[in-house]
Amino acid sequence: MQIPFVDLKSQYHSVKQEIDTAIKNVIDESAFVRGSHVKSFEKDYKTLFGVEHCISCGNGTDALYISLKALGIGPGDEVITTALSWIASSEVITQCGAKVVFADIEADYYTIDPLDIERKITKNTKAIIPVHLHGQAANMQAIMSIAEQYNLYVIEDCAQAHLGKYRGETLGTFGIAGTFSFYPSKNLGAFGDAGAIISNDEAFAIKARMFANHGAIEKPDHVLEGINSRMDGIQAAVLSVKLNYLKKWNQQRKRVADSYTQFLSQVPDILPPKIRSDSQHVFHLYVVQTNERDQLRSYLSDEGIDTSIHYPIALPFLGAYDYLKHCPSDFPVAFSVTQNILSLPMYPELATNQLEKILDTIIQRTVRKK
Ligand SMILES: *Cc1c(COP(=O)(O)O)cnc(C)c1O
Repeated sequence: MQIPFVDLKSQYHSVKQEIDTAIKNVIDESAFVRGSHVKSFEKDYKTLFGVEHCISCGNGTDALYISLKALGIGPGDEVITTALSWIASSEVITQCGAKVVFADIEADYYTIDPLDIERKITKNTKAIIPVHLHGQAANMQAIMSIAEQYNLYVIEDCAQAHLGKYRGETLGTFGIAGTFSFYPSKNLGAFGDAGAIISNDEAFAIKARMFANHGAIEKPDHVLEGINSRMDGIQAAVLSVKLNYLKKWNQQRKRVADSYTQFLSQVPDILPPKIRSDSQHVFHLYVVQTNERDQLRSYLSDEGIDTSIHYPIALPFLGAYDYLKHCPSDFPVAFSVTQNILSLPMYPELATNQLEKILDTIIQRTVRKK
């Protein structure tokens, strides 16, 4: 039995009929870009989050970029983000002409360390982009209180955390904006690229909507120059169907995670993820730590089990940031965890017999080592 890292086909088959009908409707209506399906997805999405505005766009990277642009962030400004994420979280800052400033992560949760945020604030700092990494909330209480004290915007990168919660509130509703990716493998995945921004701030929402649409609410009223970042009708129709299953799929991810964690608590050299108290982790990824990461990874691979690493190199140490001349001691926590982290197979449809095979395989390794 081969066990993939993610399995998009089994999810499609579980809702095939609804999806096929939804796609056919878009084609019958030729509502290919924006249009009625996109409008109705935006409405459903903002209702689900209980917010005033949802602005759909081309992908999760654009959602961040559009948000920064709508806030007027540009040359001379600094934006603080986490040392451990996908490069989208930081490259958008540079694309706006602002300066990327990295902060280290909290050892227990992999999310940005509020103490290091505070150390990195200068008179030029305009915003913080916390990332709810792996589906786990960043320390929003501390982050929002720093933001208030220093008068900074908070844009929450929720690309991995659809419907995750912190102290009873849904992630994406703390800052001026919450940004989402619907890349196919995310907790809510389209059949191509798609993204969205949620907000309760009307002035921000209008600017974001205009910037994403060539600077116009409705053409030909282009009041500023923007970009072309739109959601396709087919993506919206697929997402509207899948949105009805998101809570259930998140629960299934949680069940897989609970099984892993319960089992791994008996395995001495593999550390399961810690869950922040009073928060709901939605397990986009299930990330463990072990000193023998590379050996474990190749052993599992030989046994037919795919794993991955998120991320093998912390952002400040990527070639793209050579110019910042950072060294490991600048971000000791992010640097050290990247040597030990491993992402195990995680998707809602991961079956009991697959999970058993993964756990059995890990046990056999432990037995053999003794
Ligand atoms: C996937 C992801 C993004 C970017 O989303 P795209 O839709 O691929 O552009 C941004 N931030 C994080 C943390 C992500 O995981």
